[in-house]
Amino acid sequence: MQHCDTLILPGWCVPIEPRGTVLTDIAVAVTDGRIADVMPVAEAHAKYQPTVTIERPDHVLLPGLINAHTHAAMTLFRGLADGLPLEAWLRDGIWPAEKRWVSAEMVRDGTELAIAEMLRGGITCFSDQYFFPEIVAETAVDLHMRAVVGTPVVDFPTSWAADTAEYLSKGSDLVHDPYADHPLISTCFAPHSTDTLSDQSFVELRVLADQLDIPVQIHLHETATEITRSIAQTGKRPLQRLADLGLVNSSLLAVHGVHVTNDEIEQMHDAGVSVAHCPKSNLKLGSGFAPLNAYREAGVNVAIGTDGAASNNVLDILDELRIAALIANATSGDASTLGAEAALRMATFDAAEALGLGNEIGSIETGKSADLACIDLGRCNSQPVYDPVSQVVYTAAADQVSDVWVAGRQQLDSGRLTGIETPDLLARVEEWRRRIGQGTKPESRSSDQ
Ligand SMILES: [Zn+2]
Repeated sequence: MQHCDTLILPGWCVPIEPRGTVLTDIAVAVTDGRIADVMPVAEAHAKYQPTVTIERPDHVLLPGLINAHTHAAMTLFRGLADGLPLEAWLRDGIWPAEKRWVSAEMVRDGTELAIAEMLRGGITCFSDQYFFPEIVAETAVDLHMRAVVGTPVVDFPTSWAADTAEYLSKGSDLVHDPYADHPLISTCFAPHSTDTLSDQSFVELRVLADQLDIPVQIHLHETATEITRSIAQTGKRPLQRLADLGLVNSSLLAVHGVHVTNDEIEQMHDAGVSVAHCPKSNLKLGSGFAPLNAYREAGVNVAIGTDGAASNNVLDILDELRIAALIANATSGDASTLGAEAALRMATFDAAEALGLGNEIGSIETGKSADLACIDLGRCNSQPVYDPVSQVVYTAAADQVSDVWVAGRQQLDSGRLTGIETPDLLARVEEWRRRIGQGTKPESRSSDQ
C-alpha cells in the first residue's frame, strides 16, 4: 500500500481533459499538493492508504475555478457607485474613493474579503490588478491562495507610486523578484488602459516585461468611448496602437475586448493574444456584448473573469459562466452556440492557458497541482442530475461549493473556510464600511431611482 495525503471520492469527476469526459466510480488521490492518481475506487482502495478520505457521493469534483480578471481589494467598494456608465463610474465614483482610501491596510483587508468570497465559490486562482500588489501577493500567500499578481501602471501618481518609473521599478523589486519562484504566485504588468499611458511608458513597460519574462494584461476595447477617444488623441484604435508599440503578442491578456472588428479578432488570433471575458461587468456598466462567438470561431483563447466587485458586484465564476453561456446563445440566436462543457472549460483549462499556468492547473490530471473544487448537486435546484456539467453551469450557486483545495491544502471543508476567521474579517470590513461610507457622498444617484 502506498501513502497518499487525501483520497477524494466524488459522485462524479469532470477532469476537463480529456475534453467531454465525465467520470463515475472514481477516486482522486492527492499527495504533496499534487494530483497523484485518478483511478477507479476499488483500485484506489487497493493501492492507497490515505491520511484523509473525503466521500462526497452527491457532488461533482472539478478543477478549481479560475477568475481571469479581478481587482480583489475593490470588494471594499462593493455597491459604492452603482448605476453609472464606465467613464462616470471611474471619474465620479471609483477614482475619488481610491484616492482617499487606498492603502496597504485597505488592500490587505479587501483582498482577504475577496479571497474568502472566491474560495467559497470554488475559485482557487485569481488574476489581479490593483495598487499595493506586493500586499495582494503577501495576502494570497498568507491565506494559501493561488494568484497572478498584476502590477498596476498608469502615468499619474497614486498612493502607491509617484510616476511611471516608480510603478515599474516597484513592480520589479517588490512583486516580481520576491515571488519569481513561488509555487502559488506568478506576476505580470497590468497597465490600466491605453488612455492612461504614453507611448514612451508602454515601450519602457514592454522592455521590462520582456526582460523579466512576464506577461501583460490590460483593459482593452472595453467601451466605444475608449476607442473614439483613442482615435481622436492618437489617430489609432487602442489595439493598433499597442501593436505598433510591440505589445500585441502571446504574452498579452486583453481584458474585455467588447468592441472589436473581425479584422481585430483575426489580428489577436494571429498574435496569440488571449481575452478575459467579463460579461457581467460589461452588462452592469452598459459597455456592450463581447463577440464571444466570433472569438471562438476565430480560435482566440477566451478565459472568464468577474472584474472587480464594484462593477459586478460579486466575485462568482459560476454566476459569470452561466451568464456568459446565456448571452452567447442570445446574441447569436442559436441555443447551441456555447454549450455547458465549453463554458466550464473557459473557467478552467482555457483560463489556465491564458494566464500561462496551463502546465500547472486547469484540469484534473496526474502531476498537476491539486487545485480542486467540489460542488453539491444534491440540492433541490440541481436535481435530478442527467448531466453534471449542465447542472454546474445552469443550476449551481456558489453556496453549493462544499470543498476546495489549493495545492492540496483543504481551504473549504463542508462549506467552512479553514484558513480565514470570518467573524474577525467581517468586523474589519464593517469598520471600512463605516469609514468609507461616512467619507463618501454618492452625488451621482438621481432622485428618481
Ligand atoms: Zn477590470
